[in-house]
Amino acid sequence: MIKITGLSKSFGELEVLKDISLDVEKGKVIVVIGPSGSGKTTMLRCLNLLETPSGGTIAISNKSIDFSQRVSKKEVTEFRKLTGMVFQGYNLFPHKTALQNVMEGPVIVKKEDKEKARKKAEQLLAKVGLADKLDFYPYQLSGGQQQRVGIARALAMEPEVMLFDEPTSALDPELVGEVLKVMKDLAREGMTMIVVTHEMKFAREVADEVLFMDGGYIVEKATPEEFFSNPKEDRTKRFLQLLQ
Ligand code: ADP
Repeated sequence: MIKITGLSKSFGELEVLKDISLDVEKGKVIVVIGPSGSGKTTMLRCLNLLETPSGGTIAISNKSIDFSQRVSKKEVTEFRKLTGMVFQGYNLFPHKTALQNVMEGPVIVKKEDKEKARKKAEQLLAKVGLADKLDFYPYQLSGGQQQRVGIARALAMEPEVMLFDEPTSALDPELVGEVLKVMKDLAREGMTMIVVTHEMKFAREVADEVLFMDGGYIVEKATPEEFFSNPKEDRTKRFLQLLQ
């Protein structure tokens, strides 16, 4: 489903991603962990083309982009539709209701019929447990509810892959569970997901593979059982010790 080959990204002189290669099969959940500044967010943003990679190729589904060549705006727009992104800060439109937030992408970007988009948005908001909050504005919702609207909004674009960038780090502890539950349900339904998170329990329970990043590299990749009980690399061991 996803094939990343030799992906690199620099900001000026600063090389943030160095020769990242990764294959993700359809329906798999990859959890990415690593110290702050290791390049986790940049990798997700490159997959969503919010950042333009400096080199390498990314293939998602049957579309592929080679960043050693010039990439057209049209290619970027088409490619971006393949992934849905959920951010740490929910990034909802403050002056639109939950329903309007979820309808916006399909209607404006995909030019979907409004009625059809409304029905789909209602279904998605019901799916994330917000059937009774359709007409609420973001300020009337808790952080956990806003993030669930964020997930419904990403799903409304019918992406092949969902990318989560620390989706629960801005939440009060008592609200984390409701967002993780929605993510677990999605994983169970077979959505392909890449999740940057500090929630190790989620990684243990839901991930098919855990990636450990440090210094712009993927240092280690393993099943959660293997990763947490028998890490191979010294840098991984040190990182896991700090968590205890
Ligand atoms: P992580 O998500 O692992 O904390 P990031 O991908 O956010 O790491 O950041 C990796 C490195 O890239 C950091 O050193 C950060 O300061 C730098 N960086 C990220 N975005 C930018 C940017 N837009 N301009 C310059 N440097 C950036």
